[in-house]
Amino acid sequence: MKEKGLLIVLSGPSGVGKGTVRKELFSHPNTTYEYSISMTTRVSREGEIDGTDYFFKTKEEFEKLIEQDKLLEYAEYVGNYYGTPVDYVRETINDGRDVFLEIEVQGARQIRDKFPEGLFIFLAPPSLSELENRLVHRGTEPSQVIANRVETARKELEMMNLYDYVVENDQVERACERIHAIVLAEHLRRDRV
Ligand code: 5GP
Repeated sequence: MKEKGLLIVLSGPSGVGKGTVRKELFSHPNTTYEYSISMTTRVSREGEIDGTDYFFKTKEEFEKLIEQDKLLEYAEYVGNYYGTPVDYVRETINDGRDVFLEIEVQGARQIRDKFPEGLFIFLAPPSLSELENRLVHRGTEPSQVIANRVETARKELEMMNLYDYVVENDQVERACERIHAIVLAEHLRRDRV
């Protein structure tokens, strides 16, 4: 029987730099994982392409996908739905290729329950104060919003012990190297079993 691919889940608190790390990983030609494009109800940002960055859906379309059990996980994040298409993930893994998800922590938790054989990697900030700095510098949010996000991040950080690995995002390139190393080690470990 064909060896199944790995389901690699990268998650972590808001503002930690998951998107940047993911983009960096996939800009390298030697990255062999397949990126699972998520569904979302948020409006597309400038430069984003439907079917490349996300599959952009209306709320009604998304709720239909939930009803039809078409999502491996989904979560509401800052007023929008985000979810992972289950068929794509299953087909790719069954075909022996690795799938990479970059999702927020509620969704990762759902996958942990449904798909415990996944490889769960938590991207952590060097410290909570560093995360606060990043949230402050990222944009225009008022200080109360930042305070709420830092509080959310504090709770999200407590979830790191549910993960197989914690990678500190002190530097994007270094975080990517560690993720590659983890995936390689995990393949070697599983192939022995
Ligand atoms: P953004 O709107 O900035 O693209 O993404 C917001 C958050 O949603 C990020 O933390 C990102 O990791 C997360 N996200 C993206 N796709 C999914 C998904 O399919 N499921 C879940 N649970 N979170 C997602």
